[in-house]
Amino acid sequence: MSLEEYKGVFIFAQQVDNKISSIALELLGKARDLANDLDTKTVTAVLIGSGVASLTDELAEYGADRVIVVDDPELKEYRTEPYAHALASVINEYKPEIMLVGATAIGRDLGPRVSARVHTGLTADCTQLEIGDFPLVAVPGKEDEQKHKQLLMTRPAFGGNTIATIACPDYRPQMATVRPGVMQKIAPNKGAKAEIVNYNPGFTPDNKYVEILEVVKEVSNVANIQDAKILVSGGRGVGSPENFKLLEDLAEVLHGTVSCSRAVVDSGWKPKDLQVGQTGKTVRPHVYFAIGISGAIQHVAGMEESDIIIAINKDENAPIFDVADYGIVGDLNKILPELTKKLSAEMAAKEA
Ligand SMILES: Cc1cc2nc3c(=O)[nH]c(=O)nc-3n(C[C@H](O)[C@H](O)[C@H](O)COP(=O)(O)OP(=O)(O)OC[C@H]3O[C@@H](n4cnc5c(N)ncnc54)[C@H](O)[C@@H]3O)c2cc1C
Repeated sequence: MSLEEYKGVFIFAQQVDNKISSIALELLGKARDLANDLDTKTVTAVLIGSGVASLTDELAEYGADRVIVVDDPELKEYRTEPYAHALASVINEYKPEIMLVGATAIGRDLGPRVSARVHTGLTADCTQLEIGDFPLVAVPGKEDEQKHKQLLMTRPAFGGNTIATIACPDYRPQMATVRPGVMQKIAPNKGAKAEIVNYNPGFTPDNKYVEILEVVKEVSNVANIQDAKILVSGGRGVGSPENFKLLEDLAEVLHGTVSCSRAVVDSGWKPKDLQVGQTGKTVRPHVYFAIGISGAIQHVAGMEESDIIIAINKDENAPIFDVADYGIVGDLNKILPELTKKLSAEMAAKEA
């Protein structure tokens, strides 16, 4: 493998039902940053589907300089085999230096399969990506072996107890998956246009192709906590599912949404869709209330990028206070009704 042949930052532009998934736009934002630090500044989105040509402008507005479109009736719904063939073929043909994929249900299926096909490594669930030297610090006496402009992929390791930075210096592309909500979209540049490249490697259905007989859509009554501007999040300290009423009242006054820690989900008090953290969702609201949440590293990993963090905990030494902008030490059962009452009066005065 000649590493020099591999150039540019590519992202897999996931679409479902011919709608670009938010993760694709988030990856474009990060790809733009990475490309600026590399010699080849081009950001390429790989758009795979059937009848998807109209989606290219949106990708351009969010930072794609070029869109490689693989459009084929075989790609109407996501299926592992034809999608893996499409993406692996694009990589073999266009040789990206970096390939980013969303750690969605689709991306988690697709990414590792493609990396195996093109014979490279993949780092899953990255929380940080940057361009730098590898090893991070040159080994004394072996300074000339240190490689520059490598993709440094950082992710929690060993059950979230440490953070590992991983590189892939000897193979290309350097592949990473990133969970939704971790990276930020750039402000769209309305009217921006990208170079469009149509590419079709040919699809020959074989016995590995899954046949989709019916698609049944899940109807979810649960709010998407990743879209919320204000999250009122409860932990085991809330004490019972019924006591979440205190949090719901506060959320209602602030037009916010209730979310929770994993302890709450494990206790069966709230559905998994509301869980914040390493094995839940990564959120970035304007205001995050952490109520009766201790602040375990796995929880903090999912909310530390919130603009303002307000913690309520009866234990003044709870680690959540290390990441909080404002902290209230005390019993949530006493504080919440008071807080809700005060805020309700203030909101009413403001709206009057
Ligand atoms: C691999 C792995 C992945 C994980 N992923 C996640 C994840 O995605 N999300 C997640 O949240 N956790 C995750 N965890 C679990 C995590 O380690 C913690 O166990 C969990 O976050 C604890 O939840 P908690 O803070 O609600 O409960 P606790 O740690 O029990 O904390 C309860 C807090 O409530 C306070 N409290 C109690 N009563 C009151 C009261 N009346 N008023 C005020 N405060 C009160 C206590 O002082 C305490 O600080 C993961 C763990 C592992 C090993």
